[in-house]
Amino acid sequence: MTIQLLPHLVNDPFADPAVYLQIRHEKMAVLFDLGELNNLPTRKLMKIDYVFVTHCHIDHFIGFDRLLRCVLGRPKTIHLFGPAGFLDHVRGKLAGYTWNLVGSYPLVLQATEIHSRWLYRTTFFCRDGFRDQPVAKISRPNDLILTRPHFAVRAAIVDHKIPCAAYRLEEPFHLHFRREILQRENWPRGPWLSELRRAILSGAPADRRFTIAGRDYTLAVLRRRLTITTPGQVIGYASDFHASEANMAKLTRLLRGCDILFCEAAFLDEDRERAALTHHLTAGQAATLARQAGAKKLVLFHFSPKNHGRAAEYYREAGRIFTGPVDAIC
Ligand SMILES: [Zn+2]
Ligand SMILES: [Zn+2]
Repeated sequence: MTIQLLPHLVNDPFADPAVYLQIRHEKMAVLFDLGELNNLPTRKLMKIDYVFVTHCHIDHFIGFDRLLRCVLGRPKTIHLFGPAGFLDHVRGKLAGYTWNLVGSYPLVLQATEIHSRWLYRTTFFCRDGFRDQPVAKISRPNDLILTRPHFAVRAAIVDHKIPCAAYRLEEPFHLHFRREILQRENWPRGPWLSELRRAILSGAPADRRFTIAGRDYTLAVLRRRLTITTPGQVIGYASDFHASEANMAKLTRLLRGCDILFCEAAFLDEDRERAALTHHLTAGQAATLARQAGAKKLVLFHFSPKNHGRAAEYYREAGRIFTGPVDAIC
């Protein structure tokens, strides 16, 4: 099976949180958290269309400036999501600069604040100097916050002494092309395959026509002959919260059946009390969440700098509770 969602930690697990998720075949990427982004090359930053921020502590939000600096002159819209207070934090970042010479720049930032039953959304246009626009209140009947052809995103709000968002990104289904059919029919590879994928994922009409090697086919025929559908991948991302029963229950529901769960583990189990005081997790608590949620793989990050050189102990402690693979994908 060809993996479509390719997530990795941007930084060493002892450094700031950020996960970059490339969607294969698409010039589009998703970012979870905006920690320090110096390890991401400009070409990767330019692909980011969606950003999901857990909360605005400085280690999760300081990368906003680097992202903005890279995309400032680009003709694109970046969609940013975060918990209560997020719109003020985005406004505050933008208000920190002077924007009198950017009137011809087409960049748009759309920011959405996630509450338990509502989304609050506003848009900042670079051409207007990112001036405040009206805020729309959007009803949110369930945990869904975004639906796109290639993926949907769900969120839960957990307690980190402040509201903190956790995310689940899922493919609607996974589409495979049958190579043997491509070969047998002598159909050349090319952009039409990505177009076909996009058309199927976005629910385009079955009679939409594609021309391949000079012949016309409908989407329905190509789908039937050329593709196989299997369940989509699910990526979970959770960082900075107290291991309370309420938080663990909420996250177990949100993250059920994740293929990869990215979960913070600030502390080793010897610091369980400190973890509780600061509303962070230990490696064992992250592993408990992964086990309860039935995750297939666990990636740990956000290790406390005081434990530098002891990364192996985090994996060992987690491995005693969670039986799937535990590591750091950097
Ligand atoms: Zn943090
Ligand atoms: Zn925090």
